[in-house]
Amino acid sequence: MDRRAFVAVASMASVFALAARPDAALAETDLTDPAAIKAHVEGLVREFLERVPGGPAFEAPSVSVGFTPGLSWMSSVKPHVMHVAPWEQCPPPVQAFFASVQDAASGDASGFYRAGFYNFLIPHEMSHFVDYERGQGPAPEQRHDSELKANRVAVAFWMERPGGLEWLSGFIPLIEAARAKLPVPVPAGEDPTAYFNANYQALMANPVAYAWFQWRMVAEAWERRDEADFATLVGRG
Ligand SMILES: [Zn+2]
Repeated sequence: MDRRAFVAVASMASVFALAARPDAALAETDLTDPAAIKAHVEGLVREFLERVPGGPAFEAPSVSVGFTPGLSWMSSVKPHVMHVAPWEQCPPPVQAFFASVQDAASGDASGFYRAGFYNFLIPHEMSHFVDYERGQGPAPEQRHDSELKANRVAVAFWMERPGGLEWLSGFIPLIEAARAKLPVPVPAGEDPTAYFNANYQALMANPVAYAWFQWRMVAEAWERRDEADFATLVGRG
C-alpha cells in the first residue's frame, strides 16, 4: 500500500473513531506526549475490560510509558503493568529497524510504529493480562499458542470496533510487507511453531527474529478472523 492510500485509510479511520469514540482514535500519528500516550492506552485498557463478557472482573493494570527496553509488554506478576515505549524514546537502532521494514519511497516508520504499539498491541497485551489473572499464563510449550491467541484477540477487538475493520484492512498489509523484508529465522525443515516454543528465550533477545514470528502470527490471526469473535476468544470474566 502506498503512503497516499495509508493516509486515506488513516483519515477514514479517524472519522469513524471521532464519530464513535473520540477518546481513543484509530490513527495515532499525532501522539507524541507521554502523558497523552498514557491516557490513550488507559482508555483502550478500560474499553477492553468493559467488553469482557460478564463485565469488568479484573482491576485494570496500570500503564507505564517508557523505553524499558521492551517496546510492549505486560508484567506477568501483580501489580500488573502495561508497558509501552513511545517512538520518541526508541533509540536510533530501533527506529532504524522500523524504517528498514517500510516501503523505501512511501513508508512511514513512526506511523507504522504508533499504529502497532499504541493501538494494535494493547488488546494483545490485555489478552496476556486476562490469562495471568486467571492463572493461565503459558507453559513453555504453550508460548506460540499464547501469542497467537493474543493476536487473534487483538484482531477481534479491533474488528468489532467502529471503523476497526477498515483500519485493520489498511494496517495488516503493512505488517505483511514488513515481515517480507525480514530474513526467515526458522531453519530449513523445522516447524515454526515448535521452533518458537523451543527457542522462546533466545528469540526474546533477538528482536528481528521475534518480530518475524509476531508478524507471522498477526497474519494468521487475520486469516482466521471469522472463526471466533472477541467474546469467544476472551471468554467470560
Ligand atoms: Zn504477546
